[in-house]
Amino acid sequence: MAAVQLNGIFKRYGDTQVVHGIDLNIDDGEFVVLVGPSGCGKSTLMRMVAGLEEISGGDLLIGGTRANTLAPQQRNVSMVFQSYALYPHLSVYENIAFGPRIRKESTASFKPRIEAAAKMLNLGGYLDRLPRALSGGQRQRVAMGRAVVREPSLFLFDEPLSNLDAKLRVQMRTEIKALHQRLKNTVIYVTHDQIEAMTMADRIVVMNAGRIEQAGRPLELYDRPANLFVASFLGSPSMNFAEGVLTGSGQGFALTLQDGTAIALESLPPTAVVGAKVTLGVRPEHIETVAPSPDAMLQVEVVEPTGAETHLYGNIGGSTWCVTTRQRSKVQPGERVALRFPREHRHLFDTESGRRLV
Ligand code: ADP
Repeated sequence: MAAVQLNGIFKRYGDTQVVHGIDLNIDDGEFVVLVGPSGCGKSTLMRMVAGLEEISGGDLLIGGTRANTLAPQQRNVSMVFQSYALYPHLSVYENIAFGPRIRKESTASFKPRIEAAAKMLNLGGYLDRLPRALSGGQRQRVAMGRAVVREPSLFLFDEPLSNLDAKLRVQMRTEIKALHQRLKNTVIYVTHDQIEAMTMADRIVVMNAGRIEQAGRPLELYDRPANLFVASFLGSPSMNFAEGVLTGSGQGFALTLQDGTAIALESLPPTAVVGAKVTLGVRPEHIETVAPSPDAMLQVEVVEPTGAETHLYGNIGGSTWCVTTRQRSKVQPGERVALRFPREHRHLFDTESGRRLV
């Protein structure tokens, strides 16, 4: 087991800086997911923790020990990649035994660990098979088996599910989570998939352009995103946004959108003044469609039934909005629907800085 501390971690390739001073403390046994768009520096950060990439600046501590210059094998970490990198000519058993054999461990010492890992990962019946005779999910489990038998203090996963089909991804998500609950090891898991992040993490770290935008428990980030980036990144379909200007006087305040729609506000957000450019955010599932006094009207353009729910798409204030209803909606394209945005589900952001106001 190991806590991991990143203190002001930088990465430069030549003159280009790609990771800009990351501060992050990961507790022993915590499952932390680094999530962000492609190219934001997730893999680079993870590879610096693994020792596969030199750290340009800052301190990395694993289990309280400075690890910046330790060789990968001295860090006691196991990494599982997107590509399983199995040896095609070796059986499942031999693939998992490869590491211990290289380290010249005795068979008596590693055999029970392999059998335990195989049992835990439901590979017991496949130990004699070659990788080509396994499904994608089983191959990924062999790759995990290889990581597990090292009994590392820290597990690093770099987009391990990206090559699997959607159904298998969901299944493996649950399996990795269950594995963590059994082993209680520290995990850093990299993905660009916000649903993986939401469902697996104890704590999510949202990254953008080499910086941390926000870190916190999944529902904390979902319910109170600190800025427009996090608000738009987490959630599917994503949060709806409309830009406007704060208007009004002592009689009442409103956010007036570009198309003239005025959404009444109880009060001005603290630190904002009349005339300020503000962006309203509302999640699709929080919008109510039965409204005696609507906040806005949606001219429905597209109706998407998914079975469990229905998505209605249309334009509000110059942006496409999505409204999710649980009922089987009878609404047809072309109809106008009255919408209410409950106060407790409104997110207001400063349009220029992107920062959350309330
Ligand atoms: P992510 O994992 O979030 O997709 P990466 O960590 O792979 O992002 O990449 C972060 C940034 O660093 C990207 O802009 C990428 O182009 C750049 N980068 C990665 N590896 C190198 C390299 N060897 N040389 C120069 N730039 C690199």
